[in-house]
Amino acid sequence: MPNICAMTDENADQRQRLFFALWPDAEIQGALAEHACQALDRRRARRLPAENLHITLAFLGEVDADTRACAEATAAGLSGEPFGLSIDRLGYWPQKNLLWAGPSTTPSALERLAADLGEALASDCGFEREQRAFKAHLTLARKVPKMPPRIAIEPVDWPVERFVLVASETGPQGATYTIVGEWPLTGDTASD
Ligand code: ATP
Ligand code: MG
Repeated sequence: MPNICAMTDENADQRQRLFFALWPDAEIQGALAEHACQALDRRRARRLPAENLHITLAFLGEVDADTRACAEATAAGLSGEPFGLSIDRLGYWPQKNLLWAGPSTTPSALERLAADLGEALASDCGFEREQRAFKAHLTLARKVPKMPPRIAIEPVDWPVERFVLVASETGPQGATYTIVGEWPLTGDTASD
């Protein structure tokens, strides 16, 4: 009698939950976490740890090693430009009870990066195209019961010079993220 529990897809242990993101340095993460702290006061909410704060560019989900390789080749083939991001507002999504921070104006270089990445992942690697419009945001807290009264913030300036691939593991304490790849935004084409 074979041990069914030991019979797993040979690729299963190589599958990872991955997403492309913009990852701020620790100083920017700290400043944004502080804004969340101020805005939420003593409200019941689950603030994300500062080191988890990020902007998701494209969510890949659970993928095998071949698909990860395809996504990495796609990322390497993009020619994104660096841009400055002013994280100057907080926002609240009542349907998700979520507090976020983001830019009032999304730079066109960021719109392009997200669109080019989504398009290339779909055409080269078979990922589904994201139907929702890209909305640049960093989730600051979940389970926020209502819109906080104070959502004006001192802008946090973030010079964005790279994007990253992140592996996500969910544990009892929430998600743990590990950067597993990074690509510079230099404005050069891949063939330069
Ligand atoms: P957890 O799911 O463990 O509570 P999380 O949502 O932060 O934590 P992931 O689900 O791995 O972790 O998501 C990683 C990133 O991708 C997050 O920024 C999340 O908002 C985003 N994301 C997750 N699922 C999707 C999806 N279906 N479409 C777009 N973005 C997604
Ligand atoms: Mg999730």
